[in-house]
Amino acid sequence: MDHFHYKNGVYHAEDVNLVKLAEKIGTPFYCYSTATLTRHYSVFSGHFADVDAKICFAVKSNSNVGVLNTLGKLGCGADVVSEGEIRLAMAAGIKPQDIVFSGVGKTASEMAFALDQDIFQFNVESEPEVDLLNQVAISKDKKARIAVRVNPDVDPKTHAKISTGQKESKFGIPMTAALPLYRHIESLRGIDVQGVSVHIGSQLINLEPFAQAFARVRAFVGELRAEGCTINTLDLGGGLGIPYGQEEPPMPDMYAQIAKREMQGLGCKILFEPGRVLVGNAGILVSRVIYIKKSGSRIFVIVDAAMNDLIRPTLYGAYHDIVPVVTPAGDAPTELVDVVGPVCETGDIFAEQRLLKVPAPGDLVAFRSAGAYGAVMASTYNARPLIAEVMVNGTQSAVVRERQTYEDLISRDTIPTWK
Ligand SMILES: *Cc1c(COP(=O)(O)O)cnc(C)c1O
Repeated sequence: MDHFHYKNGVYHAEDVNLVKLAEKIGTPFYCYSTATLTRHYSVFSGHFADVDAKICFAVKSNSNVGVLNTLGKLGCGADVVSEGEIRLAMAAGIKPQDIVFSGVGKTASEMAFALDQDIFQFNVESEPEVDLLNQVAISKDKKARIAVRVNPDVDPKTHAKISTGQKESKFGIPMTAALPLYRHIESLRGIDVQGVSVHIGSQLINLEPFAQAFARVRAFVGELRAEGCTINTLDLGGGLGIPYGQEEPPMPDMYAQIAKREMQGLGCKILFEPGRVLVGNAGILVSRVIYIKKSGSRIFVIVDAAMNDLIRPTLYGAYHDIVPVVTPAGDAPTELVDVVGPVCETGDIFAEQRLLKVPAPGDLVAFRSAGAYGAVMASTYNARPLIAEVMVNGTQSAVVRERQTYEDLISRDTIPTWK
């Protein structure tokens, strides 16, 4: 459920009229709903209120400080994959004690920074990584609290580009190799083992892969404990899918039931790293139609947003619902159209052969479900400044990231002065 809806024929974000907002901010822009974020977090966390759970929002899905602050105030922690994300989470007011550091390529300086902040846990993904972390920790006379990210070899049945839990994946450590690794870690002075972590992929729309992965983790905890390892935290990752179009992802209560069932009696704190399920449907991308171009049998709706602003359709063939911001007249013709951006790439397509009421130049459209993996993946390709991000809360709106200016865009480059 989200809080984007029509009122008197005009699309609103909560109580904010998007036609008026577009006039004020200019287009394109991302718009996030506080009520939706709050609702999604409350529903998700509410299902774990009866167990010792910690929810760490996957910052990589939306790292806007306004969004992070909203979630942080509700009690949410952060799952980060870089020093930059640690800094953003802290700038948003999230405490280091609520930060988990994931990722396959942490550098020594990132580790040092995270240790200085005393973050809650490092999720380590290889032996060389844990050896380096050990050295960095010893050099600071500290101990790094870690979980090993295991790879349960489960097919998440999602898009190949967002599958992470199979044998061939660069992520995690195969369970067979993880046991010897834990033994090795026990000998490291700079490391404190506290748990196991797992994350098998994103946009999962079946519960079965979660159930399989969690059951494998449970069995593995038994093996580790039999070896004398102390396991106090189980990080079950993120990955719960959302409805973009026709898909019917599981409800969070069903997901919670499975997680709680599999973790029952282990006496561990359970961590979750949801990203998309919290923010995906809490954001939209608003764009203005520039031209309607008829070319042979094709009708191209050329909008002012492009693949550099929202790359998911190009990168994953992802579907985003496209809705008019002002309800078109009932007799407006419906046609199969291609919605495209101005970028000079054939792949700059938001929707191909989509049945839509053909808009007119100057009309506004909204791409729904753009809150996750939207703004965070933006680039300035074609020298297009990064677009604005706005948050609404009831009748209020606030720019939470200013549109990049052309000066910002140009000023970082210099002309070399050769001797
Ligand atoms: C991407 C990622 C997540 C979040 O995935 P969602 O599908 O957005 O919930 C969580 N944990 C790790 C380690 C990730 O890489």
